[in-house]
Amino acid sequence: MWDKSCVASGLSGGLIEPLESTSIHLIQSGIFKLLGMFPDSAFDQREIDEYNRMLIEEYERIRDFIILHYAATDREDSDFWNHCRTMEIPETLAEKIELWSGKARVFRNQSDLFTEDSWIAVLLGQRKFPHSHDPLVRMLPTEESASFLASIRDVVRKTAEAMPTHQQFIDQICRAKTPTTKALAAASFI
Ligand SMILES: Cc1cc2nc3c(=O)[nH]c(=O)nc-3n(C[C@H](O)[C@H](O)[C@H](O)COP(=O)(O)OP(=O)(O)OC[C@H]3O[C@@H](n4cnc5c(N)ncnc54)[C@H](O)[C@@H]3O)c2cc1C
Repeated sequence: MWDKSCVASGLSGGLIEPLESTSIHLIQSGIFKLLGMFPDSAFDQREIDEYNRMLIEEYERIRDFIILHYAATDREDSDFWNHCRTMEIPETLAEKIELWSGKARVFRNQSDLFTEDSWIAVLLGQRKFPHSHDPLVRMLPTEESASFLASIRDVVRKTAEAMPTHQQFIDQICRAKTPTTKALAAASFI
């Protein structure tokens, strides 16, 4: 992405499919890293190499997270999903899935954009359940965990009840105007 006196940022530097929309973040991240290594006219190759190493690592961690959405599927109903389920995946992603499959461990490196919560949401959402759990969890009294989870459920329920329904929201904010008879007649003519 950085070669001699030229830095490619944004789509000119690389594109990851926008399932999780990360291009603007990568542009910003590149700008901050470039500011941290702002060159003089000598263009130190060590700094250029470090910039490229850091950005490539960031791209690859995002790539892994995007691939997870496809590779973690258990669907068998089309050639597309069969391919996704069985395709070769990067070693870095395979290691992450293996760590999760054991005791539900997710570790975030410095170059990871996505948080542990994001990884867990996709893994559980795709029904990838770990075989075991952190042994420290057994130290928690069951009643205490149950009451903590019940309080979260309660907050979610109360918040949802206080919100308008989808239809109410549309009616209040962006309801389409009822077409006039003239407009309907014109549409049926087309
Ligand atoms: C609907 C939509 C939603 C998106 N949502 C998100 C999001 O939520 N989060 C996120 O991170 N990313 C999002 N993206 C992606 C992100 O906006 C783009 O990847 C990013 O803006 C690309 O920036 P860029 O500077 O690389 O390219 P561009 O913004 O495409 O800039 C390229 C510029 O080069 C100019 N140009 C082209 N050819 C020439 C030429 N021959 N000579 C001179 N000028 C030229 C163009 O006119 C343009 O101004 C979204 C994209 C779309 C379309």
